[in-house]
Amino acid sequence: MPTATPAPTPKAVIHQRYGAKAVYRVEEVREAVDGGGCPGLALPQQGTRCVYRCELDIAGVLRVATPGNFVRKKDAEQAAAQIALDKLGIQPTANTPATPEEAWEELIGRISYFFADENFPASSHPLVGHLSVSLRRTGDLLGRIPISAIVACDVKVHTLCKIIDPKAEFDPLLVLSMIYNAAKQSPGVSVSDSDFWIQSQRPYSPEAVDLAFQRWSGISDPISVEAVFVPCVMEDEPKTVRLNISQNEHYMGDIASMLSATDSSHVLVSRTVGKTSSEIRFYFPAPNVQLVSDLSNNVASHRGDGNMNRVINKRASYISGQTIYGDAILVNVGYTRRDTELQTERVTLCTYYRILLGKLPDGIYKISKESILVAELPCVYSRTSWKGPSPRDLLCSFCRLQRLSEPHFAANRVRASCNTLGSAVCSEKIGSPKPATGSQYGNDGRIDKENPDVFECDVKIYSKKRELLLEYSTDDDWSKESDAIQNSALKVLVWFNHYFKQLNTLLEKIYLPKSTDGFTIYPNTFSQEFAMCLSVYGKTNGGNSITCSTVGLFPMDPSHQQLENSAFLTDVDGQDSGVFPSHGSLTCIDYIVYLFMKDKRKRYILEVNNEFEFEIGAGAVRNQLESCVTQLSVNQSARFVDELSDRDLFLAAASELSPDLSKISRDSCVLEFSVKVLQVTEPLEDRMEKALFNPPLSKQRVEFAVRHINQLHATTLVDFGCGSGSLLDSLLEHPTTLDKIVGVDISRKGLTRAAKSLHQKLSKKSLMQTAVPTAVLYHGSITDFDSRLYGFDIGTCLEVIEHVEEDQASLFGHVVLSSFCPAVLIVSTPNYEYNPILQRSAMPTKDEEPEENAGPCKFRNHDHKFEWTRSQFQRWATGLAANHNYSVEFSGVGGSGEEPGYASQIAVFRRMARDQVETVPDEDDPPRPYETLWEWPTTSIPSH
Ligand code: SAH
Ligand code: MG
Repeated sequence: MPTATPAPTPKAVIHQRYGAKAVYRVEEVREAVDGGGCPGLALPQQGTRCVYRCELDIAGVLRVATPGNFVRKKDAEQAAAQIALDKLGIQPTANTPATPEEAWEELIGRISYFFADENFPASSHPLVGHLSVSLRRTGDLLGRIPISAIVACDVKVHTLCKIIDPKAEFDPLLVLSMIYNAAKQSPGVSVSDSDFWIQSQRPYSPEAVDLAFQRWSGISDPISVEAVFVPCVMEDEPKTVRLNISQNEHYMGDIASMLSATDSSHVLVSRTVGKTSSEIRFYFPAPNVQLVSDLSNNVASHRGDGNMNRVINKRASYISGQTIYGDAILVNVGYTRRDTELQTERVTLCTYYRILLGKLPDGIYKISKESILVAELPCVYSRTSWKGPSPRDLLCSFCRLQRLSEPHFAANRVRASCNTLGSAVCSEKIGSPKPATGSQYGNDGRIDKENPDVFECDVKIYSKKRELLLEYSTDDDWSKESDAIQNSALKVLVWFNHYFKQLNTLLEKIYLPKSTDGFTIYPNTFSQEFAMCLSVYGKTNGGNSITCSTVGLFPMDPSHQQLENSAFLTDVDGQDSGVFPSHGSLTCIDYIVYLFMKDKRKRYILEVNNEFEFEIGAGAVRNQLESCVTQLSVNQSARFVDELSDRDLFLAAASELSPDLSKISRDSCVLEFSVKVLQVTEPLEDRMEKALFNPPLSKQRVEFAVRHINQLHATTLVDFGCGSGSLLDSLLEHPTTLDKIVGVDISRKGLTRAAKSLHQKLSKKSLMQTAVPTAVLYHGSITDFDSRLYGFDIGTCLEVIEHVEEDQASLFGHVVLSSFCPAVLIVSTPNYEYNPILQRSAMPTKDEEPEENAGPCKFRNHDHKFEWTRSQFQRWATGLAANHNYSVEFSGVGGSGEEPGYASQIAVFRRMARDQVETVPDEDDPPRPYETLWEWPTTSIPSH
């Protein structure tokens, strides 16, 4: 009998948690019995017997049923309870001993229970599976099982070992030695003196043997399972192997022979890796320890002993988080409580590389989105457009998989600062000045309008031993606590992601980026925890001919991601629908990624996704793909090719359909993408504006400009930051006095779109033989002066300045009024004070905490570098006008203009009468930095 209380039964745990909510329904089933008969069982009827199956219903939680039948009612119930526990992810923790001594006693008792308790073979414990195989044997090995089989299937033993010595968690060899020593003291149990076998001292009764055989059917046919061999030598790549489990043999015996271990007792087992609830584990040869003497002591204390010949398998150790020696085999095989026979599942190279990839911040994200070759970890978070698991969940998974402690989030409620002007603020975060005059954020009065609370969140990352290794602290304020947490979590994820990318290029030593931007690294702890990563990721990428492409793949700042090297599209198909993915819009595509072998001219599908949604401009996909998508419109499809990037990455993506790709060379292959744009949801800003205004705000801005053009009888117009030409385009639809329109923008993509739509309109016009204005599109920055645009009648700059940093906005103001010198300049920009109204109308019911709607709010678009209040804008414009001899008037569109002002605020500058303009462009060498991209009517339309 056990000397200590065994773990609480599954039923007891369920009862503790759910009480009367848990209802067991046991069903009697008649089952045919073949020949022989069972001595210990009363047979109610010749040839049949009564068995049970059980259904467990936990009201409102779940319902499960046993897959097979049980001889005893209570076993059926326990099995059902265990299935429920597994499904719910609950591990029995009750009755856990508090001290190492108590744990030691209990370990002895538990081992005794496994081998000396007559009732044990009747239980559904997976160890009985191992026992039943060994009881089918003859000779020496009858009833003997490897000690590590216990490690593989009893959680409780693990828990106890960890209490005895916390190092046990990371060291299967230490666990082995503990079980060995406990077994020596366990009544009725014997361990061998020269091997790692364990067995009952007395033979089990025939009844017990029979019960074990009934539940655990033997293997009737040999089983062949795919597995992955992970060599200890880093230069050798992991490869696929086949495990052949012979009829009624113990599977660990076959593993032993593959590992060239003496026998299965010399095979050690890691914890499970990869997806939870799988039986994927590393098996590896026990290091050459002096068995009895070493094991009788604490094996771990001998570490470093020179003659012990232990070589650590870095890859396997990194993946499992345990110390693994020598060559290892990653295989999915084992007995579980749920099943009544040996379970196996193939483990392929793809499985292996997915597990490896899944430990990286972007890898977790890619896998969760089922898009390994396309998705990237976005570098901006917004509640409405973030797709997939939240940054916080990702960070928690990352820490769990790296065997760190749970990350610590400290979200603090702070008072919004009351300074009024001048702080540069970034996308969506608050910290922006409060309006100067008593504005009305929301009328419900629940928020302290003068001092609304905001949140900021610091993050701490601890090692398993709870030593601090990274700290992130921030001054960014958010109106919602959850936004503060998610944004900080993302910052940390992006930091780690960067760190791992750099491992590829810095093989020699651990590279720690400078502790800037709120990050503090504790180098000692950090290097300890991540030492293994260096050899694993560094080697697999650097040692092979295929390396990860440059850091450019992972833009830290999406606004600087000017996709200059755009994807070259082929096979563009489908009508231009005019609905195109723009910055900030949510775009849904379908795609196929092929591996194209140039030499063999063969194509293999690597990844398919029929519905993949991402935000443009957030760094959420591979650069080339974003470039491709932004060249298309809804319903169009195209192909492009890209270099074969990181080897680990495409091996992780390579599906069952692909051949063995582990040996292909980078030079002979490319990735080919076939993409179709299915749907585009406009950026939040546009959605908000449309929700509230009719006609839409953008249209109202155009109409505002048209009114001024006609009032002025302007003949020349330049649109600074024309984007995709919405203003220029609409001007062609209104009768105006203009005969020359010019657009300038820094984005070639925007200009290309503008060119397309202007071209369509202008060619129609010329057919109708009405007055056709000249049109030019320039590529360049509006902070540079180009003499060809000097002295125009009117300049417009609509919703542009907030897309550049504040100093650049001021520079533009200076350059335009002092050098370009338009007679009239119209500048529009969002009115920050209007945001609460926009946001309330755009997202009325989505928020969990409705009262927070009235708090300070985020920007309208994450590309905005700032959004100004009326007083900020007026201060900027007034100062500028005064310095350059212009007058300025303020107006706006959207809303009545009453508190809190217009949605879009507008300044109209007018050149004051003067004898001559200040700067006359130099006649000899006038500056012409702009590149003419397109000119009507002289040039032809660009190719795409
Ligand atoms: N005026 C357009 C587009 C507004 S979006 C409209 O109202 O629809 C802002 C535009 O400013 C983008 O097209 C962006 O490419 C452009 N932009 C940002 N910085 C610029 C710079 N320094 N020079 C020229 N254009 C710039
Ligand atoms: Mg804008």
